[in-house]
Amino acid sequence: MREKYLIKRRRTKKVYVGGIGIGGDFPVTVQSMTNTKTHDVRSTVNQILSLEEAGCDLVRVAVPDTAAAEAIAEIKKNIHIPLVADIHFDYRLALEAVKNGADKVRINPGNIGGLDRIRKVVEAARERRIPIRIGVNSGSLERDILDKYGAPCAEALVESALRNVSILEGLDFGDIVISIKSSDVLTTVRAYELLAQKVDYPFHLGVTEAGTKFSGTVKSSVGLGILLYEGIGDTIRVSLTGDPVDEVRAGKEILKSLNLIESGVNLISCPTCGRCEIDLIGMAREVEDKLKDIKRPIKVAVMGCIVNGPGEAREADIGIAGGTGRVAVFKKGRILKTVPASEAVEVLISEIHKMLEEDK
Ligand code: SF4
Repeated sequence: MREKYLIKRRRTKKVYVGGIGIGGDFPVTVQSMTNTKTHDVRSTVNQILSLEEAGCDLVRVAVPDTAAAEAIAEIKKNIHIPLVADIHFDYRLALEAVKNGADKVRINPGNIGGLDRIRKVVEAARERRIPIRIGVNSGSLERDILDKYGAPCAEALVESALRNVSILEGLDFGDIVISIKSSDVLTTVRAYELLAQKVDYPFHLGVTEAGTKFSGTVKSSVGLGILLYEGIGDTIRVSLTGDPVDEVRAGKEILKSLNLIESGVNLISCPTCGRCEIDLIGMAREVEDKLKDIKRPIKVAVMGCIVNGPGEAREADIGIAGGTGRVAVFKKGRILKTVPASEAVEVLISEIHKMLEEDK
């Protein structure tokens, strides 16, 4: 087995969100945000359960009104991962969300009102021992900072974050996570890099408003990939216009591709070419779908022909390599059998389940 390259992560303080640690030596976590009406408890819980199934580590809900803040108590009873309340403008909603059991609140102290109001939120968070995420966003920078810089550049995001940090530190509160997101990938990257030189709080990474499933996944993968490779980032959210389950899948794939987590299937499949004589694209899709619920780390190769196929299939835990009408099935570096192409997926899936049982 090849030695794995590992990323050296930036040293940060640790915070705890419910049972999950963020920062320090804790693994990078994946989070998402529901897009149901939070007060619609049933829909929100159902969506969170789907997110859990996809591997979401913590989930955020919007709290735009009292009904949403009150719903948190009921939602929490029916889910199994920590819940973050996302609040803007109204400090009373933050207090209500904390009272109802939120495990973390995302606010911008700068837009929550005067110091008295911020103090009340901080006291509530301190009492319940929950962290606050300062969530700076290029779309909602303070007026004076925007005027100073003329546009939401990296320096402006950093200044806003530091201002918000100093408000909380001034209240002797250090249980902080920070995000500074821009919809521009390189602005996001630069902002986090600059901020990493100035504070040692853990970072929530994201490229905000990244777009739809395809373009948003690419933008997020590039932005978050650069930062994570530099060791920056403790929890991530891929922000997509679409089903939040796809955000979690994308987030997990980003972390897997950087060896930051070992979880689920790492599918190695070739792009196919003129040498391929089996329906490899269909087979790879079917294999991916049939294995999507597996949580244990396993490397599966689905390869089109004998050029790279046997090599990759041998490097993987298990795999197939196509031939003419028949497919070789490899397991732990050895050819197990050859089967007709039409049976290959079924045989592969059954061998994978057998292998997972054997390795228990
Ligand atoms: Fe083409 Fe074979 Fe390579 Fe797949 S493994 S891309 S079929 S040469």
